[in-house]
Amino acid sequence: MTEYEIFALKFAGPLTSSGAFIMWRKDWEKQVQRNYYLWCLRGERETVIVDAGVRPDLARERNVNGYVNPAEVLSRIGVKAEEVRHLVLTHIHWDHSSGVALFPNATVYVQEEEFHFAIKDPIGNRPVFSATADPKSKAYIASLEGTQRLVLLKGDREILPGIECLLAPGHTVALQAVAVKTSRGTAILGSDCAHTFRNYQEDWPSCLIVDLVGWMKSYDKLRKKASSPELLFPGHDPLMTSNYPEVARDVTRLA
Ligand SMILES: [Zn+2]
Repeated sequence: MTEYEIFALKFAGPLTSSGAFIMWRKDWEKQVQRNYYLWCLRGERETVIVDAGVRPDLARERNVNGYVNPAEVLSRIGVKAEEVRHLVLTHIHWDHSSGVALFPNATVYVQEEEFHFAIKDPIGNRPVFSATADPKSKAYIASLEGTQRLVLLKGDREILPGIECLLAPGHTVALQAVAVKTSRGTAILGSDCAHTFRNYQEDWPSCLIVDLVGWMKSYDKLRKKASSPELLFPGHDPLMTSNYPEVARDVTRLA
């Protein structure tokens, strides 16, 4: 059986915002911190990267605190971004996908519905959606359409033995989580299906909601799929850095 190790790579943070950003409509008066991550799945044969992080010029433009080029963070565990062959994009928000061009030889896996909404649907360009988008990387992803480098997934799909993409809408039209076989069972990288562990624990969404009912159904789906609640990971929780063994600077082993 193919098993993978999962590494969380912090490439930016901490960023501070009102608690209501993390816990929808709660904690307005609290200040909370979040980090930005990409993840590396390391198996015997394959290495898969989940999310692309942020491209350097956009990080500068947006003044992202604590930013390090994701390719540099990956190099700390011996992964060369330009040699990565499999890149899963959980969703097309700037903090998860704008670094896509850092992986020039990767096949990019994204949900077809996410691709269509972000790239082609005029609603996807309305201010409320363009605020979380990056036109440059959207154009790059669009340029891959019709080539071998872009795989548009229609719902749940095993992309490699031991790695399954799971449609989990709510935060975006077609966010996908990634189920990974590990030595401890099936772990789920839920990305922004929850910004923090607390969202899962308290059954409460974070922000940027496109479908609240869908979000709750996605919680049910991911909880059912994970071998244990501890193996369900969020998108931005600083605990992914502080609570797990550090294998290199800002890189921790989740499972
Ligand atoms: Zn995010």
